[in-house]
Amino acid sequence: MFSKLTESIRGPARSIRRVLPYLWAASPKWTVLSTAFIILEVVFGIGILYLLKMLVEVLTTKLGEGAAGVENLGEVWLYVGLTGLASVLFLAARQIGNWAREAQGLHVSDYMNRLIHTRAVAADLAFFESSEYFNTLHRARQKGTNRPALVVTHLLMLVKSAIMLVAVVALIFTISPWLVPILLLVVLPPLGARLFFTRRLYEWEKRRTELERRAGYLDWLITFYLHAKELRLNRLGNYLRDRFSGFRETIRNERLGITRQRTVMEIATGLIGTLGFFGCLAFLARETAYGRNSLGDLVLFLLVFQRAQTAGQDLVQQISSIYEDHLYLNLIFQFLEVEPRIQSPKQPVKLNEQWQQGLRFENVSFQYPGTDSGVLEKVNLEVRPNQVVAIVGSNGSGKTTLIKLMCRLYDPTEGQILLEGTDIRDFDLDEYRQQFGVIFQDFTRYYDSVRENIRFGDIGLAPDSTLVPDAARRAGADKMIDALPLNYDTLLGRMFEGGHEISVGQWQKLALARAFVNRSRLMILDEPTSALDPNAEFELFESFRERLAGRSAIVISHRLSTIRLADYIYVIENGKVVEQGQHQDLMREKGYYHQAFNRQGKHYQEARHSVLQP
Ligand code: ADP
Repeated sequence: MFSKLTESIRGPARSIRRVLPYLWAASPKWTVLSTAFIILEVVFGIGILYLLKMLVEVLTTKLGEGAAGVENLGEVWLYVGLTGLASVLFLAARQIGNWAREAQGLHVSDYMNRLIHTRAVAADLAFFESSEYFNTLHRARQKGTNRPALVVTHLLMLVKSAIMLVAVVALIFTISPWLVPILLLVVLPPLGARLFFTRRLYEWEKRRTELERRAGYLDWLITFYLHAKELRLNRLGNYLRDRFSGFRETIRNERLGITRQRTVMEIATGLIGTLGFFGCLAFLARETAYGRNSLGDLVLFLLVFQRAQTAGQDLVQQISSIYEDHLYLNLIFQFLEVEPRIQSPKQPVKLNEQWQQGLRFENVSFQYPGTDSGVLEKVNLEVRPNQVVAIVGSNGSGKTTLIKLMCRLYDPTEGQILLEGTDIRDFDLDEYRQQFGVIFQDFTRYYDSVRENIRFGDIGLAPDSTLVPDAARRAGADKMIDALPLNYDTLLGRMFEGGHEISVGQWQKLALARAFVNRSRLMILDEPTSALDPNAEFELFESFRERLAGRSAIVISHRLSTIRLADYIYVIENGKVVEQGQHQDLMREKGYYHQAFNRQGKHYQEARHSVLQP
């Protein structure tokens, strides 16, 4: 019990200490200004109270003295003037403070977003491929990235309310010491109740993240333009809308349930407060009736008690806000603490410009984190300089996984991958990844200009680099770009104003150009022509080696016309290399490859036959 209590004080204190460096780093200027103005606000606020008290004293003691009263008018003017001045300064400090707090909030929010982005960029691919990632990120962002800025405001407000409360309690103590414990009775229960519900709401929100994200996903499906076609044709709109409403209803009901309980609790604590107040009033009335207290004390109590209640409520509010800040800040810290497992070594081995030996998999096995069965088993594979290697296999056999390991998006569970005879974990990560120009099956469509879509393959290039049109030519995308309204400057996709939509095959050609622009040693093409028409595919592979310009290549494809081009072919089934060799060798083996090749060949021949002889 005691340790729980100390932890509930230490925890927030720790969060506050941790957050200060972030505030300072985000904007030292606005942090100082917003703190300075809140202090000024408190100073002027208390100053006004003090001056008012002095003014009332002067008015009551010195003005009622006839001619002498008139002589004291100067002092009255002085206090009136000073109180007025303090009021103006108080207002100015409050307004400028609001401005400084807003500026600080915006700076901090942008700074935190930048930190979150930095972490997201550095995180492992494995992190993105787990739902835990999305939950952590969603939680970190949902509660506002400007929360660190709020901590200072809440902290200073807490000090302000505490000072006010102490002043008022001291005043009440002078009326009767008995009133003080009753006052505590009024302040403490609401504090307990508030803290309890802050924690409950937080726990509930944490549990609800997944559901919120599901609802958000449905919202995206319903409103984003990419899904509009299927949604209409399959008449999914109303169904998805109702599911969305279902999720929202669950969330709403649970949330309102907590609010209902809190209302009951607040009425109860309010009742205690009211009973306390009237109990005190009855006690004071009795004391006054018996002549043990003055009527003035009674009046003072009536005036001050409410102030004590307000100061108490403010204090409770600030404490619960700080507690809430602490809980949500922890979520942001949790995200910022995620360290990538795949990192560069401290002393990386230097990579040669040209490959002499190439890349080799040695008994590589792999299992995705968080799953319980292996995807690759003891794979041995080699890509030599200037060699074109094809990887063939049915869906889900592990081909893409192999590529992910090759690019060091994951590290093998067992075995090793060697480049030029050195384990790839010994190279600098960025330098190593620059060895590859990759087009994945699920390549990205950037809603940006054509030029950027290609240049993103090597962001080190100048925007007007001639390598961009050169890559477009290699990928066979040049003619299509020439036909676009603004050529390389055409904005693609319908996402933004003035955007121009292109076909799936055209997007794929741009992705191919993006892989070609990279000054890599190895091109990896995962189903690179799945959306290309046969002519485009033929043109690409007809002069493929010339287009590669001395690079090696790995091509994953189901089209055997493409695979025939390769110098060497690996057939992968269920995560194992089951056949390997050149086309003729594999045909002779009469295994998987032979069967697949014959099946496709048969279709081609039948198709040709039916076209020629209808
Ligand atoms: P291919 O490219 O040959 O079609 P993949 O390499 O994509 O096959 O997938 C191989 C197997 O690994 C599949 O059974 C798939 O379910 C599993 N898999 C792929 N990606 C992941 C992932 N991120 N997490 C867990 N399992 C995965």
